[in-house]
Amino acid sequence: MIYDSLTTRYTFACPERGDTTVALSRFRRLERLPGAAHPAVFRVRFECGCGEEHPGLVSHAELDWAPLGLGTGDSFLNLMTARLDALEAELADLAATKIGAGEWPWSFFCYPENQSRPVFPSSFFLLAPSGHGGTLGLAVRCPVCGRTSINLVSEQHVDLPFHNDAEIGVVEHVFSADRAQAAEEFASELYSAQFDARRLTLE
Ligand SMILES: [Zn+2]
Ligand SMILES: [Zn+2]
Repeated sequence: MIYDSLTTRYTFACPERGDTTVALSRFRRLERLPGAAHPAVFRVRFECGCGEEHPGLVSHAELDWAPLGLGTGDSFLNLMTARLDALEAELADLAATKIGAGEWPWSFFCYPENQSRPVFPSSFFLLAPSGHGGTLGLAVRCPVCGRTSINLVSEQHVDLPFHNDAEIGVVEHVFSADRAQAAEEFASELYSAQFDARRLTLE
């Protein structure tokens, strides 16, 4: 397991430092590997503490479920103690209770649909410091309409499940369906754009 729910960080390899740990907000690109792998695997690039970007691999479960305390069964093989198992069960219960009460672990504002939507990190595909007051530019592919939006959010909005910023920035731009082109548009919009503040209200 490369995700640690105590620190909300992922462990990856760094050529300089050996193992390094980063939060989700330090991911820069996520791409689902092609093929019918079950569970799905994502290739990511992350910004390492050493100052470079490195590649890493993350499973779908580690992206979307591990932060909610929903492990993959063998998640605590290395750290197996009664206490950690109990913690995992507690986290999972808490997540289930919150979701049942209509709170979503992650959300974003879908610009083409003009509404807030629940989302999981596997729908994030580009992240970068925005240059606007310590916020993060986040490109999300909407799980409902399939189109891409850029939101401006806090690091906690990404890193901490159930922490949803009350207000986020939205880039008023409808993205190209083409992946490579969308990545270019992301960079240019992020650094030039005017952001519109939207309230994240999930119905
Ligand atoms: Zn490094
Ligand atoms: Zn949408």
